[in-house]
Amino acid sequence: MQSPGGTAMAYKEIFWMACDSTEQLRAEYGPFHTRAEAEAEARKLGFSYLLRYEHLLDENEEIQEVRCIFLELPGAVVVESPALSLHTRCATCGESATHDKAWQAEVWADIHEFEHTRHRVRLFAHARGKGLKEIGDWRG
Ligand SMILES: [Zn+2]
Repeated sequence: MQSPGGTAMAYKEIFWMACDSTEQLRAEYGPFHTRAEAEAEARKLGFSYLLRYEHLLDENEEIQEVRCIFLELPGAVVVESPALSLHTRCATCGESATHDKAWQAEVWADIHEFEHTRHRVRLFAHARGKGLKEIGDWRG
């Protein structure tokens, strides 16, 4: 791919994710090739946002730049029972708990690690029908 100027032209790869918030600790599903697919999935999960990723690639298909834009879904319904729940589990002693909100998981982990020296709590997101997925580096 060459531009008229003769320099290699970068091109864009665009994909969409469904996500539950714009927070750093958010659940994301995807990728989807079209906005419509991502939107359908977001509505199914009760998520209120779409995330549009743009990868700018060079001629070797290396990613040069990543841009992401959040879009709030118009008229998104906030569901009472979340499609996604958070599970904390101590890697050291195995004690675990379930949370609806990220901050609750963080408080649980803080208390557990305060009460039990050198224990390390891991966080997992559990989505309906999708199983558990560990969220790494969740406490910065
Ligand atoms: Zn523990």
